[in-house]
Amino acid sequence: MLKEEKLEITDSEWEVMRVVWTRKKATSKEIIDVLQDKKDWKPATTKTFIGRLVKKGALNTEASGKKFIYTAAVSEGESLKSLKAGLFNHICNTAVGKTIADLIAEATLSHDDIAMLEEVLQSKKKNAVDLIVCNCVPGQCHCKENLDMDCH
Ligand SMILES: [Zn+2]
Repeated sequence: MLKEEKLEITDSEWEVMRVVWTRKKATSKEIIDVLQDKKDWKPATTKTFIGRLVKKGALNTEASGKKFIYTAAVSEGESLKSLKAGLFNHICNTAVGKTIADLIAEATLSHDDIAMLEEVLQSKKKNAVDLIVCNCVPGQCHCKENLDMDCH
């Protein structure tokens, strides 16, 4: 169970979580084997990340004979959601559009992906606003540093 809703999973820990999400349950050996192949991580490295995830409450442990079985305590969908929410919480509202455009510009996309994005953009047009209001704390954003400066 999660103690608090803000669970921060590092890039390396994500690699471990993805193995567990894919397999539903995994022993440390299974996780180690996948990441040794994929990332060339030593068993001790992978074990460290597993230990941290258990401590954080992201993985459940269950003893099975001499082995431990790991299952995910957080779903992949929920974790992706908080990853996305986290990204947009770190930037000024006025910079969200540009950030999304940059993400799209850097991504490798299929024709289907692009069709999906076009569909989303078309539907966003219906509710588009004229002006995005900055929601930042003063001092954490240029918008409020200079009152003469418009952030949009
Ligand atoms: Zn701002």
